[in-house]
Amino acid sequence: MVVSASSPVIPRWPGLPDTERLVLRELLLHGSQSRVRIAEKLGLSRTSLTRTTRNLIDAGLIVEGPAQALGTRGRPAEMLELRPEAVHFAGVKLTADTMYMVLTDMRGRAVAESVQTLPSRDVADVVALIARSIPAPPRGAGPVAGLGIAVAGDVTESPEGAVLRHSNFLGWDAVALARLVTEATVLPATVVNDVHALTGAQHWFGSGPPRSSLVVFGIGAGIGSGVVIAGELHQGAHGRAGRVGHSRIGGRGRRCENGHTDCIHSFVTIPAIEHNAGVGPGEYDTVIDRARAGEARAAAAVRDAARAVGTVIAEAVNAFDPDAVALMGEGLDMVELAPEPLRASLVEFLEQGEPDDVSILRPRFDFGLYARGAAVAAMRELLSA
Ligand SMILES: [Zn+2]
Repeated sequence: MVVSASSPVIPRWPGLPDTERLVLRELLLHGSQSRVRIAEKLGLSRTSLTRTTRNLIDAGLIVEGPAQALGTRGRPAEMLELRPEAVHFAGVKLTADTMYMVLTDMRGRAVAESVQTLPSRDVADVVALIARSIPAPPRGAGPVAGLGIAVAGDVTESPEGAVLRHSNFLGWDAVALARLVTEATVLPATVVNDVHALTGAQHWFGSGPPRSSLVVFGIGAGIGSGVVIAGELHQGAHGRAGRVGHSRIGGRGRRCENGHTDCIHSFVTIPAIEHNAGVGPGEYDTVIDRARAGEARAAAAVRDAARAVGTVIAEAVNAFDPDAVALMGEGLDMVELAPEPLRASLVEFLEQGEPDDVSILRPRFDFGLYARGAAVAAMRELLSA
């Protein structure tokens, strides 16, 4: 079924018209700015900007900052500033057995976090756990305006809102999760693929102003990627953008879910590295210790993982020519331990250019960033024009 992106049952940010959303997004992404500058960038008339900023100030979302002299001549510029504590967003990351929850302000900063074991994988149980676990904002701060849920799987839009498909860790398929969570919480709910969530948060709040294009890889229990093109997160026609990793690269590694023993998944994931190094599940750290100590089989597993990482980076650069590639996730030790095989793959597979032309970022990572990404996904949804 084909339905337009915006769902009728998920309420927009209450009472915030398009122009207000644009101005708020501009201040959120590019910091405090003068009225004149904002009007120029967004193509707003003075009258329209005056009305819009008045509405945002009345709503408590922005304030007028101290006037600043921006040049040697003319009147000091009237600055507008975001009030990040005016609104909060809840973010949830679900794994097969655990719920990570975070509450962020409008700058994506966590103000409360919790980790809880799922009571079961029954959808109703998990929705009820989400509904009763949303933290209260700090005393005196603004309310929770929206909620995002990040899950491994495909997210597609339907008349019922976002529907989660093929979420294998949870055993969920065709779950109208956004509607169920909205009904249980009375909050606008956004459901997002977990690597897309990580990508959206890195894009808006990673470092410096948002880049025009970015590819983020999430590497750990599995491998996935997220793509930003022309400043927007590209989720794909079927919620599957950024699925990478079954290209056959030779060698022999762990059998992937598609039956390959020589694809990127066969080498790059934590289970693959454990298998290829001859240790049991959960012993990834042992492999890394052994590889550091020069043990041959562990070192080979790590080198193969690095070769696989170099290959997927080269494929992404060939496909999108992004401003930067960010590597995130809990299974990235191969990047430091085996830089040569990674670079050799770039040399072999990049269609044009040199490995040094590729800007590869290693942002700080912890598992809580998936939940923060979910909160940012809710923010992106509510601030989209
Ligand atoms: Zn495969």
